[in-house]
Amino acid sequence: MRLSAQISGINAGGSDGWDVFYRARAMVAGGQDVIELTQGEHDIRTEQIILDAMHASASGGNTGYSAVPGLARLRQVVAERLSTRTGVATKPSNVQIVPGGQAGLFAALRATCDPGDRALFIDPYYATYPGTIRATGAVPVAVAARAEAGFVPDATDIAKAANGATALLINSPNNPTGAVYPKPAIEGIARICRDHDLWLISDEVYDTQVWNGTHHSPRAEPGMAERTLVVGSMSKSHAMTGSRIGWVVGPEPAIAALGDLATNTTYGVPGFIQEAAIFALAQGSDLEERIAAPFRRRRDMALQLLAGQNILRVVPPDGAMYLMLDVRATGLDGEGFANRLLDEEAIAVMPGESFGRAAAGHIRVAMTVDDAAFETALRRMVAAAARWTG
Ligand code: PMP
Repeated sequence: MRLSAQISGINAGGSDGWDVFYRARAMVAGGQDVIELTQGEHDIRTEQIILDAMHASASGGNTGYSAVPGLARLRQVVAERLSTRTGVATKPSNVQIVPGGQAGLFAALRATCDPGDRALFIDPYYATYPGTIRATGAVPVAVAARAEAGFVPDATDIAKAANGATALLINSPNNPTGAVYPKPAIEGIARICRDHDLWLISDEVYDTQVWNGTHHSPRAEPGMAERTLVVGSMSKSHAMTGSRIGWVVGPEPAIAALGDLATNTTYGVPGFIQEAAIFALAQGSDLEERIAAPFRRRRDMALQLLAGQNILRVVPPDGAMYLMLDVRATGLDGEGFANRLLDEEAIAVMPGESFGRAAAGHIRVAMTVDDAAFETALRRMVAAAARWTG
């Protein structure tokens, strides 16, 4: 039977860019020892106290259907969090609880774009962006950010693509590049959205992982609260990737529409997961800093280690859990380097090309194994790069 063009077109017919990842997984399944620096997942598990809260909630009977927009208490807690973080007064009616940031991205794009509408996004990008846009029927349009500019997009480049577009999707702190957009860049983006009447979808799932500079939410810019949908998640901030819990924050009419979408898709997030989220958020910044600390530590260690050579050039990440390394001095592109590294060193990294043309010639290294394994992997990577360069 024929499948819809819309769903068949999600991956645009090409590779989804995760070949090295799948190959590494197959090697591990076959019993091989591979250092996996691919997926954005912590090397620790969700803290026991959060699991205890989840268990207590489920055992206490909270296993039925839950409120589709999210539990009132969780919406309240998220509203308070966003009020504090963005300086914009936020009410529970501005919050839709969703099963993870990815579901939030889809919902936000579905709420703002009609089939055929152009949705802009910044290249390099988180691997799902073009597919998520296509899954809503909209047309993805990439705007390149340059490595020389620290992968912060240039406002004039966005403005050039903005005519006739409906939405702009940004992500700061950024996966894969680690860029944290400085205030002037956020102001420029906000100006373009106002001038071109664009919705702004601001993916802020890494907002607790900032190593240098400050996270600025564009929602706080003048005239932006009414046209911005902030996507948040507890995956990265609380090491709760498997719990599938996040939110979309935006103007009331958009949030009401997201409620309609949720009624007809997910029908809400399990109540015991939401109760665990309330508990986790109540632990405050101590817990969040504890979860973020290993990435800060490994980033500093990597920058120090890489300073001793000049073949792998690092774009120092200001946030998030990844390193972008320019591998072009080896004569290989990102894909060639990643494949050779897997074959010869049993180290798996993501080719930059998986994240867009602007990331070609780079690899993305997830800092998601323990410190000792991470250091070993980096040392072997540096040695291999030197060998291949001759
Ligand atoms: N946005 C970005 C930039 C991400 O890196 C991820 C996950 N890696 C997500 C959204 C989705 O995260 P989740 O669905 O786990 O909240």
